[in-house]
Amino acid sequence: MRDAASMSGRSEQREPAAGAGPISALAALIRADIAANGPMPVQAYMARCLYDPEHGYYRRRPAIGAAGDFVTAPEISQTFGETIGVWTMLVWRAMGRPEALQLIELGPGRGTLMDDLLRTLGTFAARGAGIKSLALRLVETNATLGALQRGRLAARIDADPAVTATWHETIDSLPADGGPTIVIANEFVDCLPVRQLVRTEAGLAERCVGLGADGRLRFVAGSPVSRAEAAAAGFPAAVLAGALADGAVIEARPDLPPLLARLATHAPLAGLVIDYGHSESAAGDTLQAVRRHRFADPLEEPGLADLTAQVDFASLARDAAEAGLAVEGPMAQGPFLMALGIGIRAERLMHSADAPTANMIETAVARLVDPAAMGVRFKVLGLRSPELPPLAPFGP
Ligand code: SAH
Repeated sequence: MRDAASMSGRSEQREPAAGAGPISALAALIRADIAANGPMPVQAYMARCLYDPEHGYYRRRPAIGAAGDFVTAPEISQTFGETIGVWTMLVWRAMGRPEALQLIELGPGRGTLMDDLLRTLGTFAARGAGIKSLALRLVETNATLGALQRGRLAARIDADPAVTATWHETIDSLPADGGPTIVIANEFVDCLPVRQLVRTEAGLAERCVGLGADGRLRFVAGSPVSRAEAAAAGFPAAVLAGALADGAVIEARPDLPPLLARLATHAPLAGLVIDYGHSESAAGDTLQAVRRHRFADPLEEPGLADLTAQVDFASLARDAAEAGLAVEGPMAQGPFLMALGIGIRAERLMHSADAPTANMIETAVARLVDPAAMGVRFKVLGLRSPELPPLAPFGP
């Protein structure tokens, strides 16, 4: 969840409806679309808000950082990306130390995680564990963030002839079968649009965005969807089998199965999906908007707020298995990072810092691992080709 709550130091606090303010350009387009064509499924609404070629939130907006709308783990502490770097090194060894490695990052944000990860890989390589050729593939839809990533990583890429980097607007333009591959996705899956169904008196129906009598956007029930259709469309069987209260909302993420199938063409593959979400599938509307570090109404200011939905890790694990991948976890982020030594790394950094800096390091790392902050709400799922040994640090 884009750690809005702890960023602002407040618990969930909704902004008052901005009814009187000017509406965003995208809001006007969406209203016109609905007026002409009828209610728009939530999935299409979310896709439009995030990826509309001109006004979509993830097309241009810098989004992440103190001056943006939300803060992510790599921006909180360098120890996050460094710890993922340690994991990358462990997995590379478990793969049998292939000379050539492809490293894919989905949604690299400001490039901070990759920068910290590469610094850590370099440290290990200097000890004789060298990777001879490292192909970085950065999958980024946002031109503004892509430029930030290029700037951030240029020095590291230029300094090391073993490292090459390419940027891809979607995963579809990745080369097929890139050989031994590691993929990292931190707070990426939550951006992929969710499809929602709502339980009405007449049964399940597509949850849509329509126009109220006042001309404002509001949620409405659309066409009926049978339970069999819902199951075939990837809505969790366990949730469909239970009793759903009137008005209950259920979610699926239709873009995930093709994404995982595409990743699984690279072998051997190992990956981490890190995100906020729940371990077990359950009913519930998890669509949320965050703007300027505060929660907002998902129907206000489309295109101007970050719009995400929680990751259903049980569904994700099932989709991965269907793509032929083995899964590990999910494991809560706190224990995952601790098992890989984030605490030791933090102590080292604190040791060589002055007192105020040491204090800041400690606070930042605590935010990543504490159960009350991001340590439990964020979870890590490991993915691997079945022929690879189980991934550290998952398992008993
Ligand atoms: N991993 C980064 C950024 C998380 S925000 C971090 O931890 O700081 C989500 C990132 O995914 C942004 O870089 C955003 O531009 C990118 N993104 C969102 N949807 C995408 C899509 N469908 N394809 C490619 N990149 C996407």
